[in-house]
Amino acid sequence: RAKELGRNKAVYYTAEMNAGSRKQLALETNLRKAIERNQLRLFYQPKVDINRNMIVGVEALLRWKHPTMGFISPLDFIPVAENSGLIVPIGEWVMKTAFTQLKQWHNAGFSELTVAVNLSSAQLSRPGFEDFVAEALGVSGLDGRMTELEITENMAMENIDSAITVLESLKCMGVSIAMDDFGTGYSSLNYLRRLPIDIVKIDKSFVREIPDSAEDVSIASTIIAMAQSLKLSVIVEGVENVRQLNFFRQQGVNFVQGYLFSKPVPASEILKILESQTIAGTVNLVK
Ligand code: C2E
Ligand code: MG
Ligand code: MG
Repeated sequence: RAKELGRNKAVYYTAEMNAGSRKQLALETNLRKAIERNQLRLFYQPKVDINRNMIVGVEALLRWKHPTMGFISPLDFIPVAENSGLIVPIGEWVMKTAFTQLKQWHNAGFSELTVAVNLSSAQLSRPGFEDFVAEALGVSGLDGRMTELEITENMAMENIDSAITVLESLKCMGVSIAMDDFGTGYSSLNYLRRLPIDIVKIDKSFVREIPDSAEDVSIASTIIAMAQSLKLSVIVEGVENVRQLNFFRQQGVNFVQGYLFSKPVPASEILKILESQTIAGTVNLVK
């Protein structure tokens, strides 16, 4: 714990720490079993182009349904997976599964659809990660241009130089890089300039109170203006109502994800959503 807090520190032992680490350990044991028993699933949330009124992509999101504990949020088990190193095999499974799934949707006629996969810092800093991505693309038969990888500001900052090298080689494969949860981390403009980023994803915490909160309106418009002048594409996550949608449309945003359009759903549901449209891949979701 002391090391986590930046080393060179002493931390007093507390009873809560013990309870906390016991809970972590239980979760870790369960997570190992979940991997062996194939209890992890991927859900997909549509990304909507609000100018063309169509679904242009999906984001893969992990789901874990424990037989007795029910659904466990990724916000709870991803940190456990990261601390235990399990995130590496899990992350590899996520990428292979999402790419294979996308290929199936392409084969079903929705050949313009893209997929976004969330990365964790352990993956990005692992030697040979770019080779793994190349292999996952090769095995699934996908063009890298149909894929996006999402990183966070803090992940990139852990080792900026190696992050730049890895991201550059991913871009050479056509893969787009998105900066997820933008605005919640260090939001370093210097890093934003140095990293080969294509997309900025505005965190849903800035979206919730739009357009009622003047502060959030300012923050969101500032991020959008900055991204636009840096020629970065913007995706807004967590859009839940029409007022928010209208605000972002007025701001010139093209891409939106959120419950207003769809929650993350199983792959079979995505196919139904896509197939229920008259033209392949288009959807008139704007209310
Ligand atoms: P994220 O990548 O920022 O994903 C967006 C989160 O917002 C998802 O939560 C999604 O279900 C939720 N969301 C989408 N639309 C709305 C909305 O309109 N309103 C609200 N309130 N929420 C919305 P989820 O699925 O619980 O995932 C939480 C986080 O866990 C993700 O945040 C991501 O950081 C992490 N995660 C999920 N899957 C993976 C994975 O495969 N690998 C890694 N490394 N992390 C993952
Ligand atoms: Mg994400
Ligand atoms: Mg996010």
